[in-house]
Amino acid sequence: MKAAVMRGTQQIAVEDVPTPEPGPDQVLVKIRYSAICGSDVHRFQYGMINPGSVMGHEFIGEVVQAGVSVTMLKPGDRVVGGGGEPPAGAPARVSVGNRYSARTVGLKSTTVGGFAEYIVMDEWRPLQIPVGVSDELAVLAEPASIAVHAVRRSKFRIGDAVVVMGAGPIGLLVMQVLNAGGAEAVYVSEPAPARAAAAKALGATLVMDPRDTDVVAKVVELSGGLGVPVAFDAAAARPTLQQGLEMVRRGGQVLVVSMAWEDVDLLTVEWIGREVEMKAAYGSEPVDWRTALNLMERGQLSSKSMVTADSFIGFDEMQSSMERLMKPEEHVQVVLVP
Ligand SMILES: [Zn+2]
Repeated sequence: MKAAVMRGTQQIAVEDVPTPEPGPDQVLVKIRYSAICGSDVHRFQYGMINPGSVMGHEFIGEVVQAGVSVTMLKPGDRVVGGGGEPPAGAPARVSVGNRYSARTVGLKSTTVGGFAEYIVMDEWRPLQIPVGVSDELAVLAEPASIAVHAVRRSKFRIGDAVVVMGAGPIGLLVMQVLNAGGAEAVYVSEPAPARAAAAKALGATLVMDPRDTDVVAKVVELSGGLGVPVAFDAAAARPTLQQGLEMVRRGGQVLVVSMAWEDVDLLTVEWIGREVEMKAAYGSEPVDWRTALNLMERGQLSSKSMVTADSFIGFDEMQSSMERLMKPEEHVQVVLVP
Protein backbone atom coordinates (compact mmCIF):
# COMPACT_ATOMS: atom_id res chain seq x y z
CA MET A 1 0.00 0.00 0.00
CA LYS A 2 0.97 3.65 -0.25
CA ALA A 3 1.83 5.71 2.83
CA ALA A 4 3.24 9.19 3.46
CA VAL A 5 6.36 8.54 5.55
CA MET A 6 8.29 11.15 7.53
CA ARG A 7 11.89 11.15 6.32
CA GLY A 8 13.28 14.13 8.25
CA THR A 9 12.44 17.66 9.29
CA GLN A 10 10.09 19.10 6.66
CA GLN A 11 10.42 16.00 4.50
CA ILE A 12 7.55 13.64 3.86
CA ALA A 13 7.77 10.97 1.16
CA VAL A 14 5.12 8.78 -0.44
CA GLU A 15 6.37 5.20 -0.34
CA ASP A 16 5.18 1.66 -0.95
CA VAL A 17 5.02 -0.14 2.39
CA PRO A 18 3.64 -3.57 3.33
CA THR A 19 -0.12 -3.58 3.91
CA PRO A 20 -0.57 -4.42 7.61
CA GLU A 21 -2.35 -7.60 8.64
CA PRO A 22 -4.80 -7.66 11.54
CA GLY A 23 -4.13 -9.92 14.52
CA PRO A 24 -6.93 -12.01 16.10
CA ASP A 25 -8.33 -9.02 18.08
CA GLN A 26 -7.77 -6.44 15.38
CA VAL A 27 -9.45 -4.99 12.33
CA LEU A 28 -8.04 -3.75 9.05
CA VAL A 29 -9.50 -0.37 8.11
CA LYS A 30 -9.38 1.02 4.59
CA ILE A 31 -8.90 4.73 5.09
CA ARG A 32 -11.33 7.00 3.29
CA TYR A 33 -10.29 10.44 4.60
CA SER A 34 -7.36 11.49 6.76
CA ALA A 35 -7.19 15.12 7.86
CA ILE A 36 -3.96 16.99 8.51
CA CYS A 37 -3.91 18.27 12.10
CA GLY A 38 -2.04 21.38 13.24
CA SER A 39 0.02 19.07 15.43
CA ASP A 40 1.06 17.06 12.35
CA VAL A 41 2.26 20.32 10.83
CA HIS A 42 4.24 20.99 14.04
CA ARG A 43 5.81 17.52 13.85
CA PHE A 44 6.71 18.16 10.22
CA GLN A 45 7.94 21.70 10.76
CA TYR A 46 10.07 21.08 13.86
CA GLY A 47 11.04 17.45 13.19
CA MET A 48 9.32 16.33 16.40
CA ILE A 49 8.79 12.77 15.21
CA ASN A 50 11.03 9.82 14.40
CA PRO A 51 11.98 9.33 10.74
CA GLY A 52 10.07 6.41 9.30
CA SER A 53 6.87 7.31 11.12
CA VAL A 54 3.53 7.63 9.38
CA MET A 55 1.51 10.50 10.88
CA GLY A 56 -2.24 11.07 10.75
CA HIS A 57 -4.69 10.59 13.62
CA GLU A 58 -7.82 12.27 12.25
CA PHE A 59 -9.08 9.59 9.92
CA ILE A 60 -12.17 7.65 9.04
CA GLY A 61 -12.62 4.54 6.98
CA GLU A 62 -14.30 1.22 6.49
CA VAL A 63 -13.53 -2.07 8.18
CA VAL A 64 -12.47 -4.46 5.41
CA GLN A 65 -11.15 -7.38 7.44
CA ALA A 66 -11.64 -8.57 11.01
CA GLY A 67 -9.44 -10.93 13.03
CA VAL A 68 -10.87 -14.30 14.14
CA SER A 69 -11.71 -13.14 17.70
CA VAL A 70 -13.25 -9.79 16.76
CA THR A 71 -16.82 -9.33 18.01
CA MET A 72 -17.30 -5.54 18.11
CA LEU A 73 -16.97 -4.75 14.40
CA LYS A 74 -17.46 -6.40 11.05
CA PRO A 75 -16.43 -5.71 7.46
CA GLY A 76 -18.44 -2.84 6.01
CA ASP A 77 -18.67 -0.87 9.27
CA ARG A 78 -17.81 2.85 8.92
CA VAL A 79 -15.51 3.95 11.72
CA VAL A 80 -13.61 6.92 13.11
CA GLY A 81 -10.01 6.26 14.12
CA GLY A 82 -10.38 6.45 17.90
CA GLY A 83 -12.62 7.09 20.85
CA GLY A 84 -13.27 3.52 21.94
CA GLU A 85 -13.39 2.60 25.61
CA PRO A 86 -10.26 0.63 26.54
CA PRO A 87 -10.86 -2.89 27.84
CA ALA A 88 -10.85 -3.50 31.59
CA GLY A 89 -7.41 -3.18 33.10
CA ALA A 90 -6.02 -0.96 30.37
CA PRO A 91 -5.29 2.68 31.30
CA ALA A 92 -8.30 4.95 30.70
CA ARG A 93 -6.18 7.35 28.72
CA VAL A 94 -2.87 7.15 26.90
CA SER A 95 -0.57 8.75 29.45
CA VAL A 96 2.04 11.22 28.33
CA GLY A 97 3.85 11.03 31.66
CA ASN A 98 3.96 13.29 34.68
CA ARG A 99 6.70 15.59 33.35
CA TYR A 100 5.74 15.44 29.69
CA SER A 101 6.88 18.31 27.48
CA ALA A 102 5.84 18.40 23.84
CA ARG A 103 8.85 20.60 23.09
CA THR A 104 11.52 18.23 24.40
CA VAL A 105 9.83 14.87 23.97
CA GLY A 106 7.92 15.54 20.78
CA LEU A 107 4.27 14.90 20.17
CA LYS A 108 3.14 11.46 21.05
CA SER A 109 2.44 9.50 17.94
CA THR A 110 2.25 5.94 16.85
CA THR A 111 4.69 4.80 14.19
CA VAL A 112 1.76 3.85 11.97
CA GLY A 113 -0.88 6.49 11.34
CA GLY A 114 -3.63 7.47 8.99
CA PHE A 115 -1.67 8.97 6.10
CA ALA A 116 -1.85 5.58 4.42
CA GLU A 117 -4.28 3.44 2.48
CA TYR A 118 -4.89 1.00 5.32
CA ILE A 119 -4.39 0.82 9.06
CA VAL A 120 -4.70 -1.99 11.61
CA MET A 121 -6.41 -1.17 14.90
CA ASP A 122 -7.34 -3.06 18.06
CA GLU A 123 -11.06 -3.78 17.72
CA TRP A 124 -12.05 -1.65 20.73
CA ARG A 125 -10.26 1.45 19.50
CA PRO A 126 -12.41 2.81 16.64
CA LEU A 127 -16.00 4.00 17.10
CA GLN A 128 -18.73 3.41 14.55
CA ILE A 129 -19.96 6.48 12.70
CA PRO A 130 -23.68 7.06 13.35
CA VAL A 131 -25.96 6.56 10.35
CA GLY A 132 -26.72 9.99 8.88
CA VAL A 133 -23.35 11.51 9.76
CA SER A 134 -21.50 12.14 6.50
CA ASP A 135 -17.87 11.16 5.93
CA GLU A 136 -17.03 14.85 5.51
CA LEU A 137 -18.38 15.59 8.99
CA ALA A 138 -17.12 12.40 10.63
CA VAL A 139 -13.52 13.17 9.65
CA LEU A 140 -13.77 16.04 12.17
CA ALA A 141 -14.55 13.63 15.03
CA GLU A 142 -11.04 13.68 16.55
CA PRO A 143 -10.63 17.48 16.59
CA ALA A 144 -14.27 17.72 17.74
CA SER A 145 -13.40 15.46 20.69
CA ILE A 146 -10.54 17.85 21.54
CA ALA A 147 -13.04 20.73 21.43
CA VAL A 148 -15.53 18.88 23.65
CA HIS A 149 -12.73 18.06 26.08
CA ALA A 150 -11.65 21.71 26.23
CA VAL A 151 -15.18 22.92 26.92
CA ARG A 152 -15.70 20.23 29.57
CA ARG A 153 -12.43 21.22 31.26
CA SER A 154 -13.45 24.89 31.30
CA LYS A 155 -15.62 26.91 33.69
CA PHE A 156 -18.11 27.53 30.89
CA ARG A 157 -21.74 27.31 31.96
CA ILE A 158 -24.93 27.43 29.93
CA GLY A 159 -25.92 31.04 29.35
CA ASP A 160 -22.37 32.43 29.37
CA ALA A 161 -21.13 34.80 26.68
CA VAL A 162 -17.57 33.71 25.89
CA VAL A 163 -14.68 34.29 23.49
CA VAL A 164 -12.79 31.97 21.16
CA MET A 165 -9.47 33.28 19.86
CA GLY A 166 -8.45 31.56 16.63
CA ALA A 167 -10.85 30.09 14.07
CA GLY A 168 -8.80 27.18 12.84
CA PRO A 169 -10.41 23.74 13.02
CA ILE A 170 -10.15 23.55 16.83
CA GLY A 171 -11.45 27.09 17.38
CA LEU A 172 -14.37 26.54 14.99
CA LEU A 173 -15.29 23.30 16.73
CA VAL A 174 -14.94 24.81 20.22
CA MET A 175 -17.27 27.57 19.06
CA GLN A 176 -19.85 25.06 17.81
CA VAL A 177 -19.63 22.98 20.99
CA LEU A 178 -20.19 26.15 23.06
CA ASN A 179 -23.23 27.03 20.97
CA ALA A 180 -24.55 23.48 21.36
CA GLY A 181 -23.94 23.83 25.09
CA GLY A 182 -26.13 26.90 25.35
CA ALA A 183 -23.76 29.84 25.13
CA GLU A 184 -25.50 33.21 25.12
CA ALA A 185 -22.91 34.46 22.65
CA VAL A 186 -19.58 33.32 21.22
CA TYR A 187 -17.30 36.14 20.11
CA VAL A 188 -14.48 35.04 17.81
CA SER A 189 -11.17 36.71 17.09
CA GLU A 190 -9.49 35.69 13.81
CA PRO A 191 -7.37 37.62 11.29
CA ALA A 192 -7.46 35.21 8.27
CA PRO A 193 -10.45 36.10 6.04
CA ALA A 194 -11.40 32.51 5.08
CA ARG A 195 -11.37 31.40 8.69
CA ALA A 196 -13.29 34.48 9.83
CA ALA A 197 -15.90 33.72 7.15
CA ALA A 198 -16.12 30.12 8.36
CA ALA A 199 -16.68 31.34 11.92
CA LYS A 200 -19.56 33.53 10.72
CA ALA A 201 -21.08 30.71 8.68
CA LEU A 202 -20.89 28.33 11.63
CA GLY A 203 -22.62 30.53 14.17
CA ALA A 204 -20.21 33.05 15.69
CA THR A 205 -22.12 35.91 17.30
CA LEU A 206 -19.44 38.35 16.19
CA VAL A 207 -16.09 37.92 14.44
CA MET A 208 -13.36 40.43 15.26
CA ASP A 209 -10.24 41.04 13.20
CA PRO A 210 -7.46 41.52 15.77
CA ARG A 211 -5.39 43.47 13.22
CA ASP A 212 -7.81 46.38 13.20
CA THR A 213 -9.82 45.87 16.38
CA ASP A 214 -8.67 46.18 19.98
CA VAL A 215 -10.20 42.84 20.91
CA VAL A 216 -9.75 43.28 24.65
CA ALA A 217 -11.51 46.66 24.64
CA LYS A 218 -14.27 45.29 22.41
CA VAL A 219 -14.90 42.23 24.60
CA VAL A 220 -14.95 44.34 27.76
CA GLU A 221 -17.46 46.67 26.11
CA LEU A 222 -19.64 43.77 24.89
CA SER A 223 -19.71 42.33 28.40
CA GLY A 224 -20.90 45.51 30.07
CA GLY A 225 -17.46 46.52 31.31
CA LEU A 226 -16.77 43.32 33.24
CA GLY A 227 -15.05 41.02 30.77
CA VAL A 228 -16.16 37.50 29.87
CA PRO A 229 -16.16 34.52 32.24
CA VAL A 230 -14.11 32.32 29.90
CA ALA A 231 -11.89 32.90 26.87
CA PHE A 232 -10.54 29.98 24.83
CA ASP A 233 -7.09 30.36 23.29
CA ALA A 234 -7.23 28.21 20.17
CA ALA A 235 -4.71 30.35 18.32
CA ALA A 236 -1.30 30.08 19.98
CA ALA A 237 -0.49 33.38 18.35
CA ARG A 238 1.98 35.57 20.13
CA PRO A 239 -0.51 38.02 21.70
CA THR A 240 -3.52 35.79 22.37
CA LEU A 241 -2.69 34.46 25.83
CA GLN A 242 -2.12 37.97 27.17
CA GLN A 243 -5.30 39.17 25.42
CA GLY A 244 -7.27 36.32 26.95
CA LEU A 245 -6.03 37.05 30.46
CA GLU A 246 -6.94 40.71 29.97
CA MET A 247 -10.41 40.12 28.54
CA VAL A 248 -11.75 37.75 31.20
CA ARG A 249 -13.58 39.11 34.23
CA ARG A 250 -12.48 38.94 37.87
CA GLY A 251 -11.94 35.27 38.64
CA GLY A 252 -12.40 34.43 34.97
CA GLN A 253 -10.56 31.73 33.09
CA VAL A 254 -8.45 31.37 29.99
CA LEU A 255 -8.67 27.83 28.66
CA VAL A 256 -5.63 27.07 26.51
CA VAL A 257 -6.25 24.45 23.84
CA SER A 258 -3.45 25.41 21.44
CA MET A 259 0.29 24.95 21.52
CA ALA A 260 2.68 27.86 21.00
CA TRP A 261 6.14 26.69 19.93
CA GLU A 262 7.67 30.10 20.45
CA ASP A 263 7.77 32.38 23.45
CA VAL A 264 4.62 34.39 24.07
CA ASP A 265 4.59 37.69 25.90
CA LEU A 266 2.83 38.05 29.23
CA LEU A 267 2.50 41.20 31.31
CA THR A 268 1.29 40.14 34.73
CA VAL A 269 0.35 43.57 36.08
CA GLU A 270 -2.47 43.83 33.56
CA TRP A 271 -4.45 40.95 35.07
CA ILE A 272 -3.06 39.82 38.41
CA GLY A 273 -5.41 42.13 40.29
CA ARG A 274 -8.45 40.31 38.96
CA GLU A 275 -7.21 36.91 40.19
CA VAL A 276 -7.82 35.30 36.83
CA GLU A 277 -6.87 31.72 36.09
CA MET A 278 -5.37 29.83 33.21
CA LYS A 279 -6.07 26.18 32.48
CA ALA A 280 -4.88 23.79 29.79
CA ALA A 281 -6.71 21.09 27.87
CA TYR A 282 -4.80 18.38 26.01
CA GLY A 283 -6.13 15.46 24.05
CA SER A 284 -9.48 13.82 24.72
CA GLU A 285 -11.13 10.84 26.35
CA PRO A 286 -13.73 8.35 25.11
CA VAL A 287 -16.58 10.40 26.59
CA ASP A 288 -15.43 13.38 24.53
CA TRP A 289 -15.47 11.32 21.32
CA ARG A 290 -18.92 9.94 22.05
CA THR A 291 -20.20 13.42 22.81
CA ALA A 292 -18.72 14.73 19.56
CA LEU A 293 -20.42 11.98 17.55
CA ASN A 294 -23.71 12.60 19.39
CA LEU A 295 -23.55 16.31 18.56
CA MET A 296 -22.87 15.41 14.93
CA GLU A 297 -25.82 13.01 14.85
CA ARG A 298 -28.09 15.72 16.27
CA GLY A 299 -26.95 18.25 13.67
CA GLN A 300 -25.22 20.50 16.21
CA LEU A 301 -21.80 20.24 14.64
CA SER A 302 -21.26 21.12 11.00
CA SER A 303 -18.36 20.74 8.60
CA LYS A 304 -19.72 23.59 6.46
CA SER A 305 -16.91 25.96 5.45
CA MET A 306 -14.42 23.61 7.16
CA VAL A 307 -14.32 20.60 4.86
CA THR A 308 -15.06 21.81 1.34
CA ALA A 309 -14.41 20.58 -2.20
CA ASP A 310 -10.94 22.13 -2.22
CA SER A 311 -9.98 20.61 1.14
CA PHE A 312 -9.12 17.30 -0.49
CA ILE A 313 -5.62 16.36 -1.64
CA GLY A 314 -3.90 13.24 -2.95
CA PHE A 315 -0.63 11.68 -1.81
CA ASP A 316 1.25 13.72 -4.43
CA GLU A 317 0.28 16.93 -2.62
CA MET A 318 1.35 15.90 0.90
CA GLN A 319 4.76 17.61 0.89
CA SER A 320 3.49 20.84 -0.67
CA SER A 321 0.41 20.93 1.58
CA MET A 322 2.51 20.50 4.71
CA GLU A 323 4.78 23.32 3.60
CA ARG A 324 1.80 25.54 2.84
CA LEU A 325 0.22 24.82 6.24
CA MET A 326 3.35 26.04 8.04
CA LYS A 327 2.29 29.58 7.14
CA PRO A 328 -0.95 31.28 8.12
CA GLU A 329 -3.46 29.48 6.09
CA GLU A 330 -6.49 30.30 3.99
CA HIS A 331 -7.79 26.74 4.00
CA VAL A 332 -9.53 25.64 7.15
CA GLN A 333 -9.01 21.89 6.81
CA VAL A 334 -6.84 19.83 4.47
CA VAL A 335 -7.85 16.20 4.00
CA LEU A 336 -5.84 13.42 2.38
CA VAL A 337 -7.81 10.99 0.23
CA PRO A 338 -5.40 8.02 0.15
ZN1 LIG B 1 -5.28 16.38 15.93
